[in-house]
Amino acid sequence: MTKPAVLILLGPPGAGKGTQARMLEEKFGLVQLSTGDLLRAAVAAGTEAGKAAQAVMSAGGLVSDEIVLAILKDRMAEPDTSKGVILDGFPRTEGQAAALDELLAAQGASIGAAISLEVDDAAMVERVSGRYTCGGCGEGYHDTFKQPAVAGVCDKCGSTDFKRRADDNAETVSARLEAYHAQTAPLISYYDGKGVLSRVDAMGEIDRVAADLAAIVTQVTG
Ligand code: AMP
Repeated sequence: MTKPAVLILLGPPGAGKGTQARMLEEKFGLVQLSTGDLLRAAVAAGTEAGKAAQAVMSAGGLVSDEIVLAILKDRMAEPDTSKGVILDGFPRTEGQAAALDELLAAQGASIGAAISLEVDDAAMVERVSGRYTCGGCGEGYHDTFKQPAVAGVCDKCGSTDFKRRADDNAETVSARLEAYHAQTAPLISYYDGKGVLSRVDAMGEIDRVAADLAAIVTQVTG
């Protein structure tokens, strides 16, 4: 059996990690694993982890490594991840990166690629403030950059239910950008040092960025 492909998407809020992860998921049959989505589900379900994470998430800070790692390990143990995963929003600290290395080593797996989505911070507030997702299938949209073909109806699944994240507002985005630069951006050199880093210009059209990412993923999974 081939080893699972483990891909990491790095980038500040608004860089397009979620959008691109969904596209890679469809194209390569991998599973998108977003710790942000898992944490939001824990908050919605009112679990102990969700209760502990909620205030930190609304303030735009980082949830403790302990909580995030527990949630990630549970998800990685599910059988659908066996072909490979696209980690979206994880790791976000050096502690998480080291824990991921250990987890993968124990499974005889390793990181195929860590891809840094490179963007200008100044554009991120508009990107994040205008985004929303389909409540039915999770497809992402944006007030300016990507509207559904028929207003108010999801292109993918036809749902008319759309959601905006509570933390996608200008103040919280600034705190999230700060957290990214202080705690997550150092991981770019961490993965560069391991020889698995690729950088992609993520300021362009969604499809252009997707093509650049697909080329990298093809090399890793091919
Ligand atoms: P995201 O959906 O990736 O933008 O994450 C939303 C929020 O969830 C972040 O602002 C953090 O508060 C929290 N979060 C998500 N992933 C992590 C992580 N790997 N480590 C710590 N906090 C996280």
